[in-house]
Amino acid sequence: MGLASRRDSRRGVWLLGAVCAVLPDADVVMHAFVEYEHAFGHRGAFHSPAFYLLFSLVVANLWREREERPRIFLLSFLALLSHSLLDMMTTGGLGVAMLYPISDERFFLPWRPIPVSPINVKAFFTQRGLDILTVELRFAIPMLLSALLFRFAGRHKKDEGTT
Ligand SMILES: [Zn+2]
Repeated sequence: MGLASRRDSRRGVWLLGAVCAVLPDADVVMHAFVEYEHAFGHRGAFHSPAFYLLFSLVVANLWREREERPRIFLLSFLALLSHSLLDMMTTGGLGVAMLYPISDERFFLPWRPIPVSPINVKAFFTQRGLDILTVELRFAIPMLLSALLFRFAGRHKKDEGTT
């Protein structure tokens, strides 16, 4: 792979990490059809590791560079998972359906340092506001992951660097 395409690929990876970090919240569109508490409501099935696994497999298999696929899978899955972990550290809304499809139960972590003012869970936009609180962290984690993955990937390319 030439340097140019390598750079393109790197840009793609960073973009993927950023997209995966916030993608699960696209499930708020489900509020048009079901209640928050529903398995397919916000923070439900589409916030579950099972869904992340499926999604990451698909994305990795669609990735152009074959040799990158295992790392793409890992990055996608971890970036998505970090989203749910952060959601479970907030003090508001409902928890995350981590065991879906085995169980619809919603979970929080015992440590919930991300405070929110009391909210009405029916108020869609208030919930969005709550999610935005964790956005900075959500971007930071995939960026860090991407950087780390490419650091390891770049080891056999040492000849490009200075000595
Ligand atoms: Zn979320």
